[in-house]
Amino acid sequence: MSLKSTNLEAITQPGEGPLRRHSHTYDLMRQCIHCGFCLPTCPTYAVLGVEMDSPRGRIYQMQAVAEGRMEVSPEFVDHMYCCLGCRACETACPSGVQFGKLIEAAREQIQLEVAHRPPVNGQAKRGETEEPLARGDEDYPLHTDLPRTPALETLTERLLRRFFFDIVLPSRLVTSLVFAGLKVYQRSGLQSLAHRTGLIDLANALPTPLQGQLKMPEELMPPASGDLLPRLLPEITPASGRRRYRVGFISGCISAGCGSNLKEYGHLLRDDPAYADRGQAFSAKVKDISEFLASIELNQDMGEVSRTVAYHDACHLVHGQKIKQQPRQLLQTIPGITMVNLKESDWCCGSAGIYNITNQEMASTLLERKMNNIGATGASVIATGNPGCMMQIALGARERGMEIDVVHPIQLLDEAYRAGGLYEIPVRDVGTKQRQQRSLLIGIGIGVLAGMLLVRRRRRRSIS
Ligand code: SF4
Ligand code: SF4
Repeated sequence: MSLKSTNLEAITQPGEGPLRRHSHTYDLMRQCIHCGFCLPTCPTYAVLGVEMDSPRGRIYQMQAVAEGRMEVSPEFVDHMYCCLGCRACETACPSGVQFGKLIEAAREQIQLEVAHRPPVNGQAKRGETEEPLARGDEDYPLHTDLPRTPALETLTERLLRRFFFDIVLPSRLVTSLVFAGLKVYQRSGLQSLAHRTGLIDLANALPTPLQGQLKMPEELMPPASGDLLPRLLPEITPASGRRRYRVGFISGCISAGCGSNLKEYGHLLRDDPAYADRGQAFSAKVKDISEFLASIELNQDMGEVSRTVAYHDACHLVHGQKIKQQPRQLLQTIPGITMVNLKESDWCCGSAGIYNITNQEMASTLLERKMNNIGATGASVIATGNPGCMMQIALGARERGMEIDVVHPIQLLDEAYRAGGLYEIPVRDVGTKQRQQRSLLIGIGIGVLAGMLLVRRRRRRSIS
């Protein structure tokens, strides 16, 4: 790893960016006393055994960049993006280092640099430079011996990042359409056809920027249930019975990470004169649903839910928001539920936002460890407060042929209230609905095909 600043000055002005001397982040870094208490809790350090992939090693590198002793090199990018952002190190740290804020600042710094460098194409790895398109000729010799700036990002990474963060997640409509497309892919039978014919393996093997990386996201998709497009909730849903609280509900995009971030608006907007106070006031009101329900008196009209349940702690709930007991308390109030202990319940499952798509090998290794612990519980249900974890653990269960349901704790509470007859929303016959939608799609497909044949026949006739 290069420890001297090389061509960095040409890319950003010295002292620019969130990793810099005299920044708020720099003060946070200096809280680290290098004691190493965090090391045994770090999943990437446990797997790789490399100091630079431990919390302490990462902070050391960030500090070196902030002080201008090290450039934002491809190696630095690797170590920062190998981090899961699980924040287990924060829970373990006796010195109160807020690692979540540090890793976000480091990645923001990387993105500032990335914006100035082209990605490498094809199968090239981060840090490799592009081969010149031609070696030149006598008239136009190419100076291939000139030092080139190594790329900080592969084309695949850039495409995935732009797709998720610039296109899908900022728009509810686009997110809904993407998920609707995935549901059509499953329900129309296209998915099983792609698997039966080996088309998915072929697409995965093609020499594209996504070579070898298509299969995992495809397999992550849980069996799609519900309507093709989500139904819009009314602006106000009145309380049934006496109103006790007025609650704003944020459905979020994919991860418990939303709640964690909403609680940090005060910090994120601290330098904005118009929003600093509003950010603080907003964050003070944010509660995770399990946190809220555990703090109020629950309606006890619950029926029995006879299940053996193990609870997996989502990282951004347990380490980000320090919510550990509340979901367990909630589950224990449900009659019939037997709770069993899950070893390393607060150890990351490898989902970590889009980590299981961008870092598939590490994500699979962590999933293996998680599934071994789950298998040892004998539970028939795994409850967890983050849809990303739900998808990851459900994938692990499918791959291993394990008969377990993976649910959000609120789904079990809902089941208990339905069983207790508290509300009369009929349980949807998802199977029937799916069959109806599949028939509709097949009908549309046949209609389009018949139409095309008809038009072709007419054309032939008119020509003859
Ligand atoms: S436990 Fe905290 S202070 Fe100790 S090395 Fe880790 S981050 Fe630094
Ligand atoms: S956030 Fe998680 S993966 Fe990253 S350094 Fe901390 S414990 Fe390790």
